[in-house]
Amino acid sequence: MKRISIVVPVYCEEENIRSLYKRLEGVTKCIKNYRWEYIFVNDGSDDNSFLVLQKLAACDRKVKVINFSRNFGKEIALSAGVAAADTDAVITIDSDLQHPPELIPAMLKKWENGADIVIAARKNIQHPLYRKLGSKLFYWTMNKISQIKMISHTTDFRLIDRKVADVFKTMPERSRIYRGLIDWLGFKTEYVEFNASARENGHSVYSYRKLLGLAINGITSFSAYPLKVAGIIGLLITFFSSTLLMIMFPVRFIFNPVYFSSLSFVVVINTLLTGIVLTCLGLIALYIENIHNEVISRPLY
Ligand code: UDP
Ligand code: MG
Repeated sequence: MKRISIVVPVYCEEENIRSLYKRLEGVTKCIKNYRWEYIFVNDGSDDNSFLVLQKLAACDRKVKVINFSRNFGKEIALSAGVAAADTDAVITIDSDLQHPPELIPAMLKKWENGADIVIAARKNIQHPLYRKLGSKLFYWTMNKISQIKMISHTTDFRLIDRKVADVFKTMPERSRIYRGLIDWLGFKTEYVEFNASARENGHSVYSYRKLLGLAINGITSFSAYPLKVAGIIGLLITFFSSTLLMIMFPVRFIFNPVYFSSLSFVVVINTLLTGIVLTCLGLIALYIENIHNEVISRPLY
């Protein structure tokens, strides 16, 4: 019998845990020939989530609970859950019921047919326009500047095969985005689509500040592109201001026109220096990128 773990990060979800558990049970009871385990990771909730989880664990041996000493964030909670699972496949799912457990049979089917990663993608998204735009911009930048392909609308609701989980565990970086790392790994990936529903209880704790932080983290941990852009701007500024200087010098000394005053020289020289400094920043970016790649020491392949 194949064994499957369901990893659920939990942060202040006391009202959602039981209904999620019931829906998971509804689904897993109907699927024969698998052994299930639910790994709930309590990410330092301030409410009674841990108590609710303990009660569940007391009634059901399938339920395991990891309890964090404080809030470490969803990405870390997911990593802890995946690290704790030793089953043939691991499914990660949100505890706020935005990811329908009823999708699990479809995911399992794709996995059985040979996919190593099965990703649930949202069909309709009920976020406000500016958040949609923000997310579009993020994915666009990510795909432009980094090696990996990230597909928008994909979620952390994913199934990963044992072998993917094993490589994932060797990924050493501290600031991490679960999705990004899984995408970086490659493997045979399949998608299933679902209609995202609104959060059942409580509210999303991802404030826009947190989301922005996540986006910045995602971008900076996958490329030194922003710094390189500074370098490119620097090169352009250096080029234009030195050309301007080369024109200004002879023109001023031959014709001595009023509009090439000493002040305008100072301005252009200042711009030139700024350009040189920015160019150097870009140069440093190349070194930082190398250091970054060495320091995170991801597996080579
Ligand atoms: N979560 C977590 N730690 C955090 C924030 C969130 O474990 O610091 C969990 C939360 O309980 C939920 C999932 O991550 O199961 C997604 O959180 P949320 O619904 O707030 O995010 P969104 O759906 O807006 O991406
Ligand atoms: Mg949510």
